[in-house]
Amino acid sequence: MIKGQCLCGEIELMAEELPGMVFNCHCHRCQKSHGAAYSTQVLCSPGSLQLQKGKEQLKEFRAPTAVRAFCRNCGSRLMNYSPDKESYLSVSLGVITERSEFTPIGECYVGQKQKHTQLNTGIPHFEKLPELPAGN
Ligand SMILES: [Zn+2]
Ligand SMILES: [Zn+2]
Repeated sequence: MIKGQCLCGEIELMAEELPGMVFNCHCHRCQKSHGAAYSTQVLCSPGSLQLQKGKEQLKEFRAPTAVRAFCRNCGSRLMNYSPDKESYLSVSLGVITERSEFTPIGECYVGQKQKHTQLNTGIPHFEKLPELPAGN
């Protein structure tokens, strides 16, 4: 179980991570929404999300295929999920409280990466998000 908190601390969340499923995402949507060169996402079991605190501060940016959730007070990007909340959930590594154990196992959307970003050479590179294990 992971615990996360936004920058201002008004939102606290918990979710069940999928063991080892941590990816760096270099897609343009992550770059824009995080205001960063890439985002590191911890894949979690869809439907496992629990908001401990701050539900009223949670703001969703809805696109047809994905919802990007953030804190309306401090702007922290918290997680992404499928519109039905049942087929995909990922939590941004930056908001996870205990994060030392999370190491990316893949670089995703490498075709869209910023020129200056150095990719990890010891892990696989993907043009998209890799397939999730069956059952998730
Ligand atoms: Zn906040
Ligand atoms: Zn992305």
